[in-house]
Amino acid sequence: MKLNWILLCVLIHLLTACATTPTGRSQLVFMPDDKLNSMGLQAFADLKKEKPISQDVKENTFVRCVANAITHEVGGNWEVIVFEDKTLNAFALPGSKIGVHTGLIDLVDNQHQLAAVIGHEIGHVLARHSNERMSQKLGAQMGISLIAAVAAPQTPLGQTAVSLLGVGAQYGVIMPFSRLHESEADLIGLELMAKAGFNPAESVTLWQKMAQASQGEQPAEFLSTHPSHETRIDDLRENLPKSTKLMQQAQAAGKKPNCIK
Ligand SMILES: [Zn+2]
Repeated sequence: MKLNWILLCVLIHLLTACATTPTGRSQLVFMPDDKLNSMGLQAFADLKKEKPISQDVKENTFVRCVANAITHEVGGNWEVIVFEDKTLNAFALPGSKIGVHTGLIDLVDNQHQLAAVIGHEIGHVLARHSNERMSQKLGAQMGISLIAAVAAPQTPLGQTAVSLLGVGAQYGVIMPFSRLHESEADLIGLELMAKAGFNPAESVTLWQKMAQASQGEQPAEFLSTHPSHETRIDDLRENLPKSTKLMQQAQAAGKKPNCIK
């Protein structure tokens, strides 16, 4: 009788900790999502206090136009902020927050390329990658103390917390997403941008430009993890026929974003 009870507990535990990502991959996540959301909100509030925010109307209009078209496919109320920062970076946090650096806006040629990056970042959030890596790297108890620590990003534990969220660069720490997470975010992003009516083929050009720019010294979330830009670009190309169809359907349904850089 006692053994049955233990088995039941184990089963319940496994059920609550196992989830499936939008691409159908099984993952281990045991942090409560509302806790991840509050960590994201806290980290974003800190960033807004510490980093200069762009007041440039044209830049802000461009970024919001692209972000809104994509988040429309996802639902929810997303806050979008353009940070004055010359590094090639963008991020999305649990709690529906998006940050885009001015350096990235300078790099992209058009709305489609920015959509590729924003779609990728939202892909990390939809697939609960922050939750997964916190669950992998830390015990449940440690996870709970991280929630408080994110409010004090100057402390060592606070730095771990923000870097696990994927925004540690401004505190001198960065914990890049794994190859697996990057590939998954690419595929989710490609589908999202296409469903919003953007041209998925431009994602290839975008990552080629990023690869070129990474010869320099600027750090970026997407550059630090990638042993092979070729693999990433091959994977995107392989998925282009499917996502191009999605774009055609979206455009036939009247989704024709026109965001001017
Ligand atoms: Zn990424």
